[in-house]
Amino acid sequence: MRDGVVVAEQLSKNFVSGDGTPTVVFNDLSFVAAGGAMTAITGPSGCGKSTLLYCLSGLEQPSQGNVWVLGEELTKKNQRNLALFRRSHIGFVFQSYNLVPSMTVRDNILLPLTLSHRKVDQGSIDALMDKFHLSGHDNDAASSLSGGEQQRVSLIRTLVADPDVVFADEPTGALDQKSGQLVFSQLRDFSHRPGKCVVVVTHDLRLARQCDVVYTMSDGGFVASGNVEEQA
Ligand code: ADP
Ligand code: MG
Repeated sequence: MRDGVVVAEQLSKNFVSGDGTPTVVFNDLSFVAAGGAMTAITGPSGCGKSTLLYCLSGLEQPSQGNVWVLGEELTKKNQRNLALFRRSHIGFVFQSYNLVPSMTVRDNILLPLTLSHRKVDQGSIDALMDKFHLSGHDNDAASSLSGGEQQRVSLIRTLVADPDVVFADEPTGALDQKSGQLVFSQLRDFSHRPGKCVVVVTHDLRLARQCDVVYTMSDGGFVASGNVEEQA
């Protein structure tokens, strides 16, 4: 296994459709994301970015290959140990937010902490609510917020759980440019803290350029990887 906080080797993922025809999403990929850094995965719609992120974060099993996070091989863990490991170390920001619509904003943010019986630092939640321009929305139902607001709540929910590794799938997809930049900068600051690592999927090249390393996907493989200068 190579050095890195997130490492994948010879990773492949296929789906078999209803009529039995297999679809290869990606094949034989190698990937490394370093600690204290932000790594981007970019590429055209449908090329397999989300599927790759699900496999790297243990949300989905790859068809072949191995994934290590913080030196632990996710692809060898049973369901229970994988769930425990993910809960303590991994945060995932979904493209579709995945908030509980009927619950308040504050309760959505508190949910992962409550479920894992962890201490709640109300002050740090207040600070993040303020930073993401959500102050005053604590008691609103999540469903009453705009898409962009829900996206920011979902990011706060991930950050307050203080994971070591954050995977974020198009975290600025629902945001205007200014708000997207704010969210992206927060994720980048988080990634540069000691012991943290962020892997972000984005099709926004302006944002990808702000990452330390960029992987570009196309046709089931990486067509480029490295820092932005190397790819220019
Ligand atoms: P991206 O995030 O780059 O837009 P996705 O990872 O969502 O791409 O999808 C890549 C390909 O995998 C698409 O062709 C999609 O239809 C297919 N795919 C994704 N999830 C499934 C699934 N659960 N079953 C079958 N095909 C899937
Ligand atoms: Mg996607």
